[in-house]
Amino acid sequence: MKYINIEPGTDLNDVAKNTKHMVHHKERNVLFTWEFKGDGGYQYPFIEYDCIDHDQKWVKFKRENGTFTLRKQCFSCGELSSDFKKSCVENFDSLPFFMPEIRSFISNFKNNLSRELGRIKNDEAWDEYNDYLKSDKWLNKRSLVLKRDNYLCQACLVNKAVQVHHLTYDNIYDEPMFDLISVCVPCHEKIETKKKKQ
Ligand SMILES: [Zn+2]
Ligand SMILES: [Zn+2]
Ligand SMILES: [Zn+2]
Repeated sequence: MKYINIEPGTDLNDVAKNTKHMVHHKERNVLFTWEFKGDGGYQYPFIEYDCIDHDQKWVKFKRENGTFTLRKQCFSCGELSSDFKKSCVENFDSLPFFMPEIRSFISNFKNNLSRELGRIKNDEAWDEYNDYLKSDKWLNKRSLVLKRDNYLCQACLVNKAVQVHHLTYDNIYDEPMFDLISVCVPCHEKIETKKKKQ
């Protein structure tokens, strides 16, 4: 499999642009993969990660009541095991403490990657949508919808309809005509404002 190596200083923005669904965090030896979910309107990345070589060590983990318990933590990805009996080791007192920063490093990285991927993907989707609105395919559909509705706004049945609204974006780029409805400008603005608030 081909993937991009992330090193300190690597710009996530470039990563998100240049690769399709996988990056390798070299320093941590963790592989991040993702796929995009969501509808035609908004797409978000669903990211998972794999630790390539779990480096598990015994650690002392502080419980909420202040006592310490024996656990294992991976020093690459930060993953923490559940409790072990203290008798599993001879040197419990001299073990290192659990390091939450390893785990938060990974989750911060994941969040940043998610933000960059989401932003770039949705910029792309936005460009694609705007191109579509200029295409002959859309302009033709649009005029058929207005004709079907007798150029009457289907929201107020009073004003002349001059725009076409998507009732759903589920079938974006391949809408059946019943997904589309003719509207006047004030009604359309009202509908879109209400949608944004949700
Ligand atoms: Zn690991
Ligand atoms: Zn109207
Ligand atoms: Zn609309």
